Amino acid sequence: MSVRPADLRPCAAVGLRRSDEPVTVDAGSATRWPVITKAPSRMAVRPNLTDYEATCASFTWDAARAALDGLPDGGLNIAHEAVDRHASGPRRDAEALRFVRADGSTRSLSYADLAEASSRFAAVLQGLGVGRGERVFSLLGRCPELFTGVLGTFKNGSVFCPLFSAFGPEPVSQRLRLGRGRVLLTTRALYRRKVAPVRDDLPDLAHVLLVDADGSPEPGTLDLAELLQRSVPSREIAATRPEDPALLHFTSGTTGTPKGAVHVHDAVVAHYATGLYALDLHPGDVYWCTADPGWVTGMSYGVIAPLVHGVTALVDEAEMDADRWYRLLAEHRVTVWYTAPTALRMLMRAGTERARAHDLSALRFVASVGEPLNPEVVVWGQEAWGLPVHDNWWQTETGGIMIANLVATEIRPGSMGRPLPGVEVGLVARDADGAPVIQDGVAVLVTDPDVEGELALRPGWPSMFRGHLDEEERYRRCFAGGWYLTGDLARRDADGYYWFVGRGDDVIKSSGHLIGPFEVESCLMEHPAVAEAGVIGVPDAVAGQVVKAFVLLRPGHVPSEELRLSILALARKRLGAAVAPREIAFAESLPKTKSGKILRRLLRARELGLPEGDLSTLEAGR
Ligand code: AMP
Repeated sequence: MSVRPADLRPCAAVGLRRSDEPVTVDAGSATRWPVITKAPSRMAVRPNLTDYEATCASFTWDAARAALDGLPDGGLNIAHEAVDRHASGPRRDAEALRFVRADGSTRSLSYADLAEASSRFAAVLQGLGVGRGERVFSLLGRCPELFTGVLGTFKNGSVFCPLFSAFGPEPVSQRLRLGRGRVLLTTRALYRRKVAPVRDDLPDLAHVLLVDADGSPEPGTLDLAELLQRSVPSREIAATRPEDPALLHFTSGTTGTPKGAVHVHDAVVAHYATGLYALDLHPGDVYWCTADPGWVTGMSYGVIAPLVHGVTALVDEAEMDADRWYRLLAEHRVTVWYTAPTALRMLMRAGTERARAHDLSALRFVASVGEPLNPEVVVWGQEAWGLPVHDNWWQTETGGIMIANLVATEIRPGSMGRPLPGVEVGLVARDADGAPVIQDGVAVLVTDPDVEGELALRPGWPSMFRGHLDEEERYRRCFAGGWYLTGDLARRDADGYYWFVGRGDDVIKSSGHLIGPFEVESCLMEHPAVAEAGVIGVPDAVAGQVVKAFVLLRPGHVPSEELRLSILALARKRLGAAVAPREIAFAESLPKTKSGKILRRLLRARELGLPEGDLSTLEAGR
């Protein structure tokens, strides 16, 4: 039965045209949140995907690949697909990127500008002797040089690795070292604070290019603007093959150092197909992905997917602020908006009236990724701006969206949606220790509805990571019984919608950023008073989770507020605010396994008052 519930009441604000949108609600859904159904035939723009089952049945990755240009002799280069093919066609003068500075002023690059600027950057790399496969890192905010740097790196056949500019010196130097970065693109301030002090420990780092050197680079760095001016751009693009590495994204695990996920040029096929189906991009769209290109979402969907589709991508150079965001959505007539649960929760807190004060009538589609999206937020979107939020799921290793609530199909608030065309998803059964159940080399799948299993993907989609940098064994362990194991736990309902249950491991998601507890624990233990540390994520109404650390002091030290602040200060200085713990508690002991590993699962259960589960591996007396 379809009803129109009171909590999805039409928007009253001037400019919100969606009061008559074809949205109805099925009161008989599996959750307490009503299903949101839609009528594609009445939508302002015909969705790219209207018949889910038929599209899944007919879809092939080869057909998606055929929609791209390719290079001669079977080559493929992301920069050609994203920029140069538009620059040599009717879209050459179309606006590719529109940057909004903190003061609201804008600067734009057309596809032709972007082609020229990225070719210049490629020529700079050539001039510096940076070759195919060598790694170019960035430590930058969302500025034009980041975008031209990524695309120029692809054109040169080198590999780009973006770092989040809010990382502290430790994560920055560790990733530069692990990735053997040859070039770093950064600003004077970031270089001084985060790289110069450790430069001697980075023997592979041959060139640091400052985007704001203004004619007087720091010692040991180069002025990018001057190099660009002197360079002679060539129209040639390195003849990369689909399987050549293009991107390196570091992500966090439970143990050990961050993992470098290697992605190849063929990933652009998935960015194209998911931009089409999951984000419903159409020619003429003004699209805004709020993620920072320091993370995979900001790269795959803030840089590559919109450019491959030839739309205009908005880039906000400032930090998140509710009124600013609404102003940007309204003034720039954003049509498709891809954002994250933490930001949406902040907007919800700011109130419905704030949203209604702006003319968001151009907005057609809203999507979210990165952490669990509360069903309240999905439904609130409908109330605030007349559109529900479409949650989707993927991770650094998958390179692109895998599961999504789609524009023309019903939304089940709280669910991540259904697999995209070309993506095969399974739930692998887990044994009592949480290990995947494999029989005769084949994974045992959970087939009954609403039963938990480990979310798994059948390898073969183009944006799948092709390796963990220098860690073959770690990469191999991600696959079992014919599936890639994601580390997430999920359920599938009887209609094929997937519901996130939680992480199967100890990694923490805070404000959409994946944080490895080991990295934080190692840093805390550098404090002279700390003997041991255990780090977990605790729930937070806005950030999803925040990092909480339990520290055990060395003999001779006693807990005090001063000591707590001193440990916190060290963590913030070394790790940066995005990774450092929000809370630190002094512990008298930490629960450990008999083999000495900290049982973070138990720390978390005790902190949250949850059942302690199987304690058979617990060290006596803990
Ligand atoms: P990252 O590799 O940093 O993009 O983080 C990927 C992880 O974020 C996934 O493995 C999930 O644990 C979480 N995640 C991403 N999207 C969602 C979603 N829609 N719902 C719940 N968790 C998500």
